[in-house]
Amino acid sequence: MKSRQISGKTKLVGVMGDPIEHSVSPAMHNMALNAMGLDYVYVPFNVKKADLAKAVQAVRALNIRGLNVTIPHKVEIIPLLDDIDSLARAIGAVNVLVNNDGILKGYNTDAEGFLHVLLEHGVEPEGKNVVILGAGGAARAIAFTLAGRGANLIMLNRTPSNAAKCAADVSNATGQTVEVLTLDEKNLSDAMERGHILVNTTSVGMFPEKNDALVSSNLIRPHFIVADIVYNPYKTRLLIEAEKAGAMTINGLEMLIWQGALAFEKWTGKKAPLNVMRKGATQALKSYEK
Ligand code: NAP
Repeated sequence: MKSRQISGKTKLVGVMGDPIEHSVSPAMHNMALNAMGLDYVYVPFNVKKADLAKAVQAVRALNIRGLNVTIPHKVEIIPLLDDIDSLARAIGAVNVLVNNDGILKGYNTDAEGFLHVLLEHGVEPEGKNVVILGAGGAARAIAFTLAGRGANLIMLNRTPSNAAKCAADVSNATGQTVEVLTLDEKNLSDAMERGHILVNTTSVGMFPEKNDALVSSNLIRPHFIVADIVYNPYKTRLLIEAEKAGAMTINGLEMLIWQGALAFEKWTGKKAPLNVMRKGATQALKSYEK
């Protein structure tokens, strides 16, 4: 594919976070922008926690069209923006910002991205019991979107007080039941007895700890749908265990692609080429796995 000529008209988009070296987003977005013939370039910015306010000012000063926002800035960026979309406000985390003539608005496409992936796999969360492992930023986005769609949530976390706070916010906003349990063997086995869908939102199983999983095949029944939002490695230990048990699996790269596609559409106003984004993200991931 021919690469673009950067000129004075080229619009700038990107991602800011720390660390950022292993992000697959630049490859995913630049391949998509090239394929669509759009005069944009997507750049990774390593922004330290202490420099966040200066970086947000720079978005205005440099007329950057939009950014993905990742660890550790998703929460701290909220008071620095001019406007926050209502879903992002409810979740309490922003992963995309859009710059309209110096007015910066924050969105959360992690939540919508995860829901798209489920629906694309023919999974309707309404009325289902969903076992969520973890209660961090990604868990919040996923819990809001699932509860908003009418799922009953059972949230297990290593630190129960973190889950209690997350569950109370989700329950208040959506009116859905959110049960909180400490992540231990007995509670896990009890939750899995009642569940239909399992979602790992913890970082357990992420490279380089590829052999770790919080749930093994003996707790997973064949009717389960098992989603892991960890995308490096492509097939995590948890997904291997789920396959062994005969369950349907959904990997984290799909959520990454969908949240990216929704951001792409907000910046460019064009429909994102999902297959190109999938190719770009997969190639980048493979190069890191070598
Ligand atoms: P976070 O806010 O730091 O939350 C991490 C969660 O994992 C917390 O609930 C934490 O429990 C739990 N945890 C960490 N280590 C654990 C361990 N050894 N045993 C049990 N629980 C453990 O992080 P995040 O932003 O939610 O991200 C979590 C993961 O999702 C990361 O791997 C990230 O790359 C991935 N992610 C993927 C996508 C995607 O598009 N696919 C999007 C966002 C995030 P405590 O509360 O006890 O600390």
